[in-house]
Amino acid sequence: MKLIDWLLDLLFPPKCVFCRKLLDSRETDLCARCRQSLPKTEGEIKAIRFCEEAFSLYYYEDKVPESVRRYKFSGMQNYGAVYGKLLALEILRRKIPFDLVTFVPVSAKRRKKRGFDQSELMAQTIGNELDVPVYRCLTKDKDNPPQSGLKSSDLRAVNVLGVYSPYRPERYREKKILLIDDVLTTGATVSECCATLRIAGASEVRCLTLAAARKLYK
Ligand SMILES: [Zn+2]
Repeated sequence: MKLIDWLLDLLFPPKCVFCRKLLDSRETDLCARCRQSLPKTEGEIKAIRFCEEAFSLYYYEDKVPESVRRYKFSGMQNYGAVYGKLLALEILRRKIPFDLVTFVPVSAKRRKKRGFDQSELMAQTIGNELDVPVYRCLTKDKDNPPQSGLKSSDLRAVNVLGVYSPYRPERYREKKILLIDDVLTTGATVSECCATLRIAGASEVRCLTLAAARKLYK
């Protein structure tokens, strides 16, 4: 271990990204208990439209929502790399086929306010871990009201209609895309992104998210 890492560990001892327990020397990123007990999904998400297949690593329950909130709203930007590594393993485990990785972008305004794009960070880590290309394929031009404020899935679908535009579609025409996002609640946002990518020329789109509502599996 480098001296600087040793000092940083002393000052800021590493904690589990999900339960915040102090990690012991044999644990990295997640504690052994969370590795075992977090709610891993089985099977495919049924509710996403315009894509070949959609998967999530976890259900959006137990310790997952609090962890994602710390990531997005409490400055825990380093979680992006941890989530990305977990997703890279899930891609290998499920043998998901793709030519390139992309992500559901936030608007430029939101990115400026937050300082980073949460799904882009996860996608970049996947690119590094698996040595695969990561492209921005979409832009979010409109700063629409947050989906979290809308309960009905119909309203959520209308709220994201036409919000995304293709970005440099010549790079992904006839290509198989793997689309990364953080959380699926109704699937409206990701369905809209899949439709935009397909209309712009992608041959196939598959989705992988960190977490998804259990109701999307029924
Ligand atoms: Zn833990």
